[in-house]
Formats: sequence, C-alpha cells, structure tokens
Amino acid sequence: MVIVMLGPPGAGKGTQCQLLAERLLLPHLATGNLLREAIARKTPLGNLAKPYIDRGELVPDETMVSLVRERFLEPDAKPGAILDGFPRTVEQARALNQMLFELGRKIDRVLYLRIPVEVVLDRIAGRYTCPCCGATYNLTSSPPRMAGRCDRCNGVLVQRSDDRRDVAQRRLEVYEAQTAPVVTFYREQGVLVEIDGAQAVERVLEDELEALGSSALMPDPESTEATWQHR
Ligand code: AMP
Repeated sequence: MVIVMLGPPGAGKGTQCQLLAERLLLPHLATGNLLREAIARKTPLGNLAKPYIDRGELVPDETMVSLVRERFLEPDAKPGAILDGFPRTVEQARALNQMLFELGRKIDRVLYLRIPVEVVLDRIAGRYTCPCCGATYNLTSSPPRMAGRCDRCNGVLVQRSDDRRDVAQRRLEVYEAQTAPVVTFYREQGVLVEIDGAQAVERVLEDELEALGSSALMPDPESTEATWQHR
C-alpha cells in the first residue's frame, strides 16, 4: 500500500504518518527527516540540501526524486510506504507516478490534511522533535509525557532551526506556490481524500483510517491462522 500525506508545514503530517506507520506496519518515508540525517552526517546530499532548508526553500526535484527512488528500493518498503513531505511539486508527483509504475505499483490514497494557515504558524512554534528517533511533539496538541524528553527513547527534544517564525513564514509561501498545486493534481486523479487537520490528533487518525477503508487491512489468504497482512 502506498499512501501520500499532503498538507502545509505544521498540519501534523509527521505525527499522523508515525501513527499510521505503526498501525499499518509500513515504513514512514519522511524526506525532511532523510535530509536532516544527511545534514547531521555531513554527506554530499546533506551539504547540498542545507542551504535550501535553512532558507525554507525546496531542494531541487532531481535530488529528491533519486533520494525517494533509492529509499523505495530498500527491502522494508516492499509492502509499501507512507510518504511524508514528498511529493512537494507537480514535477515530483509526476516522477513518483512514473517511479511507481516502473515498480509495478501505484498510489492507493493521498490524504490531504486541510488546515488554515493562521493555525499552522502557531503550531510550528510549539513543535519539538527527537533527534534520536525522529518522533515529533507539539506542546499544545501532542505534548511529551515528560517535558523536554522523548516518550519513545527518552532523547532530549529540540526545536528545528527552520521552525523559526521567519523561515516558517517562507516555507508557507513556498507551500502555497509549489505544493498546493499537487493537491489539485491528485484531486484530478481521483485518489485524494480531504481530512480536517484542525481536529484532535486521534480524530484525524480515525478519519484517515476510515478514508483508507478496508483496503488498509486485508486478511492474508495464504495464512492458515487468523493473521492480517498489510498491503
Ligand atoms: P519537512 O521536514 O518535510 O518540513 O522538510 C523540511 C525541509 O526539507 C523543507 O522545507 C525543504 O527544504 C526540504 N524538503 C523536504 N522534502 C522535500 C521535497 N520533497 N522537495 C524539496 N525539498 C524538500
């Protein structure tokens, strides 16, 4: 099963993708996380991406497409993946369709988290992530159990440098100009489901699971036991 999560920065894509990944046993493929890891390790990809991320601009399409292609070829992505932060341009969306076609797969659903821009700027300001495991928290909507510490691995939570208000503002402008057309692209393809992203985290998740429907969890016909297989 291939799921794409769309929505502006601060809509809750990371949190929702993590929850869905746990439910559906699919890898959470977050391009922003892959780039931040590359920056931390000072790889050529990281050195290329850093100035773009620092300015709140998009990393060039060719770089992103080959990064996602490589990630899709890893064994854990065989049953599918939940894409977070990709595609961010219509060009990337076209390349993704082509890539999946070549792999004999297709996008099952695009979940679009709709949320007013005024709300997202405040959300971004309250956002913290764990540099050790990538978990994301929000001081208002999904705070960690212990202040400043990750629930999963007890790592010390940090704020992303591009969550600063001026950079966040630029990211929202870039979203409107370059990523909002991707919503239209998928709507026209009939795979898009709109979800009210302003609701509580659990309600958003419920709506997503409903949108994914019974295709998310199918009984495994080859198994003699009553186990479930994820597709
Ligand atoms: P995110 O963690 O998804 O908010 O991404 C953080 C930053 O990484 C973005 O502001 C971009 O600079 C860069 N980035 C992540 N995904 C992409 C993508 N698909 N295309 C271009 N740039 C990206």
